[in-house]
Amino acid sequence: MGKGKLIVLTGPSGVGKGTLLRSLLKRHPDLYLSISVTTRPPRPGEIPGKDYYFVTRLEFERMVANGELLEWAEFAGNYYGTPRTPVLEHIRQGKWVILEIELEGARQIRQTFPEALRIFILPPSLPELEDRIRKRGKDSEEAIVRRLNRAQEEIDAAAEFDIQIVNDNFDKALERIEETLFATAAC
Ligand code: 5GP
Repeated sequence: MGKGKLIVLTGPSGVGKGTLLRSLLKRHPDLYLSISVTTRPPRPGEIPGKDYYFVTRLEFERMVANGELLEWAEFAGNYYGTPRTPVLEHIRQGKWVILEIELEGARQIRQTFPEALRIFILPPSLPELEDRIRKRGKDSEEAIVRRLNRAQEEIDAAAEFDIQIVNDNFDKALERIEETLFATAAC
């Protein structure tokens, strides 16, 4: 059995983390993607238990109080968190576990899991990011403004991460993520 590993993928909303991850998981089905808990309402097409576990604020606060979350943060008015048990269990089984989380959560993981590999995905530019979020058409104007304000803050923190990858070309960005993961396989 191989050695378990924790991988953190962070980057501003709309940068294309989700699409990159879906392709990565298709190519490497042995990777395990952690499913987060959120108080955000589901977007059209999102499936409970697959994209997120959608919960009420009360339920989320109960999970925090019970220590059920490995990390959690408030983002654009909603709570998001990583259920602790499945992550630890998969790492124990020797799996490589991926967390797709925002900056505050990534900082918490840096404290609790200093050995985690932390990757930051950058947009080619801020106007390009805004364009992508608007074209996605899944957020209200208020949510878009909140996400863009937060995006600049996150981009400013990119240097805190082990690796920064610019998503200006999908295939190249995916390749760089793979190189990063598999080059460190022996660590
Ligand atoms: P979205 O609402 O677009 O699905 O996600 C908003 C942000 O929350 C994204 O940056 C995403 O990476 C982050 N996020 C998703 N799940 C978690 C989580 O469990 N913990 C933290 N800290 N952030 C998360």
